[in-house]
Amino acid sequence: MQNKIKHVFFDLDHTLWDFETNSRETLDEIHHRFELGERGMDLMKFIHAYEKVNSGMWALYRENAITKEELRDKRFQETLLEMGVVSKSLAHEISEYYLFNSPRKSNLFDHAHFVLDYLKSRYTLHIITNGFEEAQKIKLDRSNLNSYFTEVITSEQVGFRKPNRFIFDHALNTTGANASESVMIGDDLEADVLGAMNCGFEGVFFNPKEVPIGKDPKYDYKEINCLSELRQIL
Ligand SMILES: [Mg+2]
Repeated sequence: MQNKIKHVFFDLDHTLWDFETNSRETLDEIHHRFELGERGMDLMKFIHAYEKVNSGMWALYRENAITKEELRDKRFQETLLEMGVVSKSLAHEISEYYLFNSPRKSNLFDHAHFVLDYLKSRYTLHIITNGFEEAQKIKLDRSNLNSYFTEVITSEQVGFRKPNRFIFDHALNTTGANASESVMIGDDLEADVLGAMNCGFEGVFFNPKEVPIGKDPKYDYKEINCLSELRQIL
């Protein structure tokens, strides 16, 4: 794909910014700070309960069944409930701590800076993310990623989430890129890779956990398990 590509679009969460590690570090701090161990909560059970509740709430949010505020408010209430604790005020304090601190964590996937330095000297780089505007800005800032990217497109700003084609069309308009000279790299096969390919982009599927996925022959995307592999294909 080397010759024609001019614009490289990245997803942020779980692709460059190591969401799981950053979230778990914050939950570990919460477990200490709010003395959840003293309340009988095992750290790993707390983390797993949160991750399960959170992904269920995100599914509801994606279906527009709950608002951003409800998502943020209720996920810790539900987590505490799963752990046998009923306390709206504790859930609220934990939620505030999480929202403030998690985006300020700076764990990235291996070789992120090295690969971005390499790509930046050859292509114009952008972000297309389904995350919230404010949180994504903080993440890019705190993990020193800002300087790599010309445009940062968030679903909150556009009003549509990947894989909806409106967000990809919006990204092409904003950056002045043609789809045929663009590649999208992300960890969500459906939302990032196939979504972008349906708009004419090339696609790269980032699969760091090497989850086996049956490939639809209709879509000719590349799969990588480590960001450093981008140097071989771009
Ligand atoms: Mg992602």
